[in-house]
Amino acid sequence: MCINNIKAVVFDRDGTLIEHVHYLCDPEKVRLLNGVKNGIKVLKQSGFKLFLHSNQSGVGRGFFNLEQVYACNQRMEELIGLGSNVFSRVCIATEKPDEEILYRKPSPRFANEILTDFDLKTSEICYVGDRYSDLETALNIGAYVIGVNTGLVDLHLELFELGLTSRFKVVNSFSDVVKNLISKESRLQNEFNHI
Ligand SMILES: [Mg+2]
Repeated sequence: MCINNIKAVVFDRDGTLIEHVHYLCDPEKVRLLNGVKNGIKVLKQSGFKLFLHSNQSGVGRGFFNLEQVYACNQRMEELIGLGSNVFSRVCIATEKPDEEILYRKPSPRFANEILTDFDLKTSEICYVGDRYSDLETALNIGAYVIGVNTGLVDLHLELFELGLTSRFKVVNSFSDVVKNLISKESRLQNEFNHI
């Protein structure tokens, strides 16, 4: 699969776009990770459609409610500074791990909805996240994926323990995610293909 064909990026939230705070429900504690503000701007300017897919089992566990998740997302969007429509669609999966799973990653349900509703192919989607569940979601639909090691758990170690070290691309910063998604050649190629 060629990353040059990517048109849409599905981001995890905690540990990927913002600092991972356990069961985050206070907008005051939202902090963008290094490189995210500029990186999201660059991706938008380059024509990528951006999506957000976040597991928030704290809702299902009764630790906080959906309104608090929305408030944290709103704060994140304020900090990104590109308006409230920066993500074309947002999925908040509220299930606990032991509940019937609908949208909780690695469920492919949200990705499949994006594929249909935005007329995309699996080869045109890239998942970006800091945990194996993010990578596994992409794997479940056959999409491209980039792991970013900026979360609470060392993603290299998590993959090592699963015996999957060499299977996924893992980078160490959001800037490296953006660099992988954007190369001059790939963008020009895409523009050429649209003529
Ligand atoms: Mg995460």
